[in-house]
Amino acid sequence: MAKETTVIRNARWLIAWDANENRHVFRPGADLAFRGNEITHCGPSYDGPADREIDGRDRMVMPGLVNIHSHPMSEPMNKGYNEELGSPALGMSGLYEYMPIFRPDGPGTAAGAEVAYCELLLSGVTTLVDISVPWDGWQALLAKSGLRGVLAPMFRSARWYTPNGHEVLYDWDEAAGRAGMEQALNLIERARQDPSGRLDGMLTPSQIDTCTEELLRDAGAEARQRGLQMQIHASQSIVEFNEMTRRHGLTPIQWLHKIGFLGENATIAHCIFLDHHSWVRWSTRKDLDLLAETGASVAHCPNVFVRRGILLEHLGDYLARGINVGIGTDTFPHNMLDEMRWAGVLGHVAAQDVDAVKTGDVFHCATIGGANIVGRDDIGRLAVGAKADLVLADTSHPAMLPGREPLRTLIYSAQDRAVREVYVDGQQVVDNGKVLTMNHADAAGRLDEAQRRAELEAPKLDWAKRSMDEISPPSLPVRP
Ligand SMILES: [Zn+2]
Repeated sequence: MAKETTVIRNARWLIAWDANENRHVFRPGADLAFRGNEITHCGPSYDGPADREIDGRDRMVMPGLVNIHSHPMSEPMNKGYNEELGSPALGMSGLYEYMPIFRPDGPGTAAGAEVAYCELLLSGVTTLVDISVPWDGWQALLAKSGLRGVLAPMFRSARWYTPNGHEVLYDWDEAAGRAGMEQALNLIERARQDPSGRLDGMLTPSQIDTCTEELLRDAGAEARQRGLQMQIHASQSIVEFNEMTRRHGLTPIQWLHKIGFLGENATIAHCIFLDHHSWVRWSTRKDLDLLAETGASVAHCPNVFVRRGILLEHLGDYLARGINVGIGTDTFPHNMLDEMRWAGVLGHVAAQDVDAVKTGDVFHCATIGGANIVGRDDIGRLAVGAKADLVLADTSHPAMLPGREPLRTLIYSAQDRAVREVYVDGQQVVDNGKVLTMNHADAAGRLDEAQRRAELEAPKLDWAKRSMDEISPPSLPVRP
């Protein structure tokens, strides 16, 4: 069958990629055409053939967003549970005492992933790095979602736990780490052969403190041999910073550098507790330089941390040093535009400087920064030859008015309410603000039921056997 050409005419605003200046630019009134899954025109006055025409007068056309760090299998169910939950005796983190005890069962996992994929599409995400513990049906659902998906199956040599809420211990099983990496490599190879042509994989040892040095070295070797990108959680908590300095006398970043993990194919999530951070009082000042020199990237997910008072210090400084930064929704809501607003505002807060980072910088991170992390130069931008991954926002939506500056207005005011149509790989997956490929409402209902089931299980896993209402009391007292 011949490939069809679609043209969007006279876009009110079009955000095009200027390769000469290496930046996005506004092109008001421009046309965008794509044939099959590839953009064939991006600029004024398209006069080639067209099988389908879309009136762009009330639309801002922008590149689909690249979300480089998300956990769709587990995080959606935490809504109403862990927004304000952390352990004061464990550096405010929720990772050790609370994350391991509230887990979805099989049906809950599938429902959560479907909800997350829907929310992500509705907030303009077209490429997703899905960091999950492998589950049945994962690849099939990600393919069905219509997203451009990167499966990042987690594996590790230890699990962490706390026996008392103030000490973190590690339960080591090195064989499980090796088996997990083998399974991950198989899943990645399968994803790369998916008939959709939209799936890829990323090698993802879970956390710096739960993987042996040997496992990380072997992961690095496998990634180099197979041409894979890698990602790991590191510098994400005070507990982990102290654990790594206790084990090695080096900061997490310095240790990753020493064992050869840092490089252009490596992304570090979340890179908050570096040697300069005000909470760690460490003597060196070289972590940011190591990231910049090695070309490693940072996965920045501000929302999940700042809810617990934890702040990256600061985004503008990372960018000024030439570090590649991508943005991800590490937790619910799976709303990329919301995460971008957090990144901008918190960049100002952490620097105490309104000019430290600007909306254009954040947009660059959420598009080009993400594309770099997944190792692609044909997404995250609207340009001839790039993939037709597009988001159309309604510039006549009341939330987008007054309409002086559409990108700031979308991020700071309208958010996902204004997203109307989304195309991935030339296929429409959102129309009139509704996901076409999945059943959002049905999945949300199933996820709600899964949350009730998980509430019954959590006290059994808690070190103090507390009820759910003791662990996470409602925000107001409940009265008859
Ligand atoms: Zn994460």
